[in-house]
Parts: sequence; C-alpha cells; structure tokens
Amino acid sequence: MTHTLNSRDACLAADAQDELRHTRNEFQLPEGVLYFDGNSLGALPKAAIARSNDIVTEEWGNELIRSWNTNQWFERPKLIGEKVADLVGGGEGNTVVTDTTSANLFKVLAASLRIQNEDAADRRVIIAERDAFPTDLYIIHGLNDLIGNNYELKLIDAPEELEGVLTDHVAAVVLSHINYRTGYLWNLNEVSKLVQQRGAHIIWDLCHSIGAVEIDLSSAGADFAVGCTYKYLNSGPGAPAMLWVNPKHQDRFIQPLSGWWGHARPFDMSTTYEPAEGIGRYLSSTQPIISLSLVEIGVDITRKADMSKLREKSLALTDLFIELVESRLSHHPLTLITPKDHAIRGSHVSFKHPEGFAVMQALIAEGVIGDYREPEVLRFGVTPLYIGYADVWDAVETLRRVLDEELWRKPEFQIRGAVT
Ligand SMILES: *Cc1c(COP(=O)(O)O)cnc(C)c1O
Repeated sequence: MTHTLNSRDACLAADAQDELRHTRNEFQLPEGVLYFDGNSLGALPKAAIARSNDIVTEEWGNELIRSWNTNQWFERPKLIGEKVADLVGGGEGNTVVTDTTSANLFKVLAASLRIQNEDAADRRVIIAERDAFPTDLYIIHGLNDLIGNNYELKLIDAPEELEGVLTDHVAAVVLSHINYRTGYLWNLNEVSKLVQQRGAHIIWDLCHSIGAVEIDLSSAGADFAVGCTYKYLNSGPGAPAMLWVNPKHQDRFIQPLSGWWGHARPFDMSTTYEPAEGIGRYLSSTQPIISLSLVEIGVDITRKADMSKLREKSLALTDLFIELVESRLSHHPLTLITPKDHAIRGSHVSFKHPEGFAVMQALIAEGVIGDYREPEVLRFGVTPLYIGYADVWDAVETLRRVLDEELWRKPEFQIRGAVT
C-alpha cells in the first residue's frame, strides 16, 4: 500500500474499491464476528452447505454404493488433486488430496529417504526448523525411530543457518513454507534449488501458504510437498490434505502405508501389493468422501479469485494491521514478530504480549476471533477472501479497547481450554 489508511472512513473507501470485495458473499460468517483465524480453520463457504446435503442425501442416500463409480468417488482424490495443483503449480498427475498433512509427511519423507538411500547411502542427516509446526518434528522422529534411528535430525534456529548445514551428508530438508507462528515466508524457488544443488531433497509443508501465496512447485523443481486444505482453502475441519510428488520420484518407491487404494488394481484382491503407477500409489485407504468432496468447494473459490490478486490484497491488509498497531497501540507492550519485508511475509501477523493468552480470550469475547500460540503470541490470520480493510480497522480498535480498559484481567480469560 502506498499510503496508510488512517481512519475508518478511509478503510471503508478502500473496501468499496476492492475488486475482491464480492468474494466475502461466498462465505457464511456469523453476525458480529470478525474472523481472523482462517489460517487455522477457514470459514464456511455457503456452497458447502448445499453440496454436503447433496453428497449425503443423493450420492450416499440414494445412489448408495454405486456412487463409487457413478459419482466418481473412487477418482475424487485425484480429480480434486488436479484442482489443488492449479494453486501450487503442481502440473498434471502429480497431486492427490488424501489423509492428513501429518500422515502425508510420513509417506513422502519415507519415500525421500528410501530414494536417497539408493542414490547416496552416506546421506544420513535430516534438516528441519526447531520452530517448525511440532507435528512435522514428531513425524520425523517417529519415522526415524521406526527405521532404527539411522538418521540424525539437525534443527536450525534461523533461516540464515540453512546454507551452512547443507553438507554432503544431508538426505532431506523439511521446511514450512510459511512459519505457523511468525509468518516468515521462505523463498520456495531459491531454497528448492539450493537444497538440490547440495544433493538433498526438499520437502515443503504448505499448510500456511496454500491459498495464501503464489506457489509454483514445478518451476521450483521441488521434490515433495504436503499441506492442509482446511486453513486458507476453507475445506472444513479435518478435511483431507494435499500431497504432491515431483514426477521424477513418483515411481521409484512404494510408500510405507501401502494400503489397497494405492494398489495398481485394488479389486483384483490380490495377496501381493503392486503399486499403482504415478501419484496414485500415495493413496492408502478408503477416503472420507463427504469431507473430501467439500475440498473442491473451497478450492474452486480460491481458483476463481486469482492467487496474485489475493496475495496483493493480503499484503495490503497485513501492512495495514501492522501500521495501525504501531501507530495506535504503541503505548502497550506489543512486539511484532512477523517480518515487515513483503518478500518474507506470509498472510498472518503475530504480536507478543506478556498476557497474550488472556488478551486473546478477551478479544474473542469482544467478537474478534484470532488465536493464541505459545509463547505469548497473539496471531491474526488475514484471509483476503472475506476480510476487508474496515475489518482490520475494527479488529485493531477492539484490541486497543481490550488493552486500554484491561478487559483481559477478568478471571474467566485466564482459563485454558483443550484447544488454544
Ligand atoms: C496446521 C499444520 C499442520 C497440521 O497437520 P494435521 O496433520 O492436519 O493435523 C501441519 N503442519 C503445519 C505447518 C501446520 O500449520
């Protein structure tokens, strides 16, 4: 943005000129709520309501088991995978939507290590970030444990450390394209190329970037990618995740969750496993068809909106959020931990506050839903599909009121639920 929007009226004027303003009508958001948590659970697309009713009553209720063929249930992980591929530069035949991000990371990391073991058996180091979303680290540990702890996990603490640790012993590098806490954005193209020049594989976790920033896995020549669809893609709680494999790797290895859906001919009911050609072998088992089908709704809205326009608006909104906090809330102990540089910023903004947890509970009670992440982090996801400039203004004003009036001091805001 070239100039600060320094009044609510200026924000309303920016909304009136916003080309993407109409996309908020595609979502059903509750009255009186400003939703800044779309990076954790995306909002409900109106079309998903009718579609889920259709899947349940028509495809399941009337068509029953015939739907596996007549409604292409069996093909759906691949059909929807092709649509997701549009958003990540996936190319054709390289993407499926299936299982969860954690399970998919297990599959692709196992594939990567097996391929490396054949090509360069002395590569025994896996690199990840200490600040990675913890499930990624748990999965790496779990897999390593299963295969006899043959690998050393090396954790880096800052992006600048990556280049120095890429020795001849590195097999794979697992990175979150956008950090879930700070919003730091890696340069996917450059880092993919750097890692590969050093002979390692790059595995991207796209959970916080798919649907938020432009991604081109094919031109980056990445090796593997996994990512959630229930965040910026608005596919619904626990909706299946995406999995992408560079075509050069697809047929080299049988991923270890070798269930019948990845078989070349599952209905042969053969006693021996024969993997399907290509990306199909990354499927494991019968899919949650209802949930899977809704992924298409969220993905279609994003495809229609155009990723470059979404990115432009996302940066304008996160700029505005940061500027308003800095100009209007400077008397409070809020510390920005999100990069200001556009080149390394994703689509959420995070601030530390010593009473972060209670502040977020008070904000939620006032109708601004963001979330809290340890330690002390207030996190605000900015989804340009349904957030406008005046929403950002109102959210920051509510934060100001919560802090100025110390609303967070109420005892009920100190109690933690199972999910924060
Ligand atoms: C949200 C998120 C996950 C979640 O994984 P699930 O298997 O869907 O629970 C994984 N990685 C990152 C980076 C995330 O942000």
